Amino acid sequence: MKYKRILLKLSGESLMGEKQYGIDNERVKQYAEDIKAVHDKGLEIAIVIGGGNIFRGLSAEKSGMDRAQADYMGMLATVINSMALQDALEKVGLKTRLLTAIKMEQICEPFIRRRAVRHLEKGRIVIFGAGTGNPYFTTDSAAALRAIEIKADAVLKGTRVDGIYTADPEKDPNATKYTEISFKEVYDKGLNVMDMTAFTLCEENKVPIIVFDMNKHGNFMKIAIGEPIGTLVR
Ligand code: UDP
Repeated sequence: MKYKRILLKLSGESLMGEKQYGIDNERVKQYAEDIKAVHDKGLEIAIVIGGGNIFRGLSAEKSGMDRAQADYMGMLATVINSMALQDALEKVGLKTRLLTAIKMEQICEPFIRRRAVRHLEKGRIVIFGAGTGNPYFTTDSAAALRAIEIKADAVLKGTRVDGIYTADPEKDPNATKYTEISFKEVYDKGLNVMDMTAFTLCEENKVPIIVFDMNKHGNFMKIAIGEPIGTLVR
């Protein structure tokens, strides 16, 4: 395996599958199988999931809601997604722990860094829920922050596009994909990889980011063994 410990970031939207809202169980099941295959090879895996398939703070603010209030709702949405993935992971036989940045004693453990690391060492999949626990942040930032805290070798951002392109491939037929790109080039070219807070955190702490298509069965394994699919930012 190319890595020992990674942080996988999944957007909330990716859990929707073909649906317009909520969670597609088939999609979650497919993710769980892909994650198990990689875990079985000995990789330590921590996961951060977004909440955009259920609730997004920024969108709610646009329709008149208080931003902080809406952001807390968004963080709760990530816990719902985390629990769905936790269930699917346990169904395929993995041991898991859900640790949240907002305490919810009846359903998960509070986030304690040392405990998270211990779970990983013991071969449990760790899911970090409720983002950073702070409004005005995103789950991309939570992914970057947790990756640094647990000393992950990389942030793997699973999306529905297969990497970073010179332009939007859905709009520009001449757009080409980068196999590798530096943090500086991403800034200089104004490309969108993660939000700036997350991106800067990764850059300053030298955590590479890999953007890849998680919806293609087997891609996660390819990344884990070091095949050059997706785009590597370092
Ligand atoms: N959120 C937040 N602080 C965090 C992480 C998330 O306030 O540290 C809120 C924010 O409102 C965001 C929502 O939770 O819109 C869902 O997260 P995100 O938009 O990052 O999910 P994704 O786009 O990955 O589905």
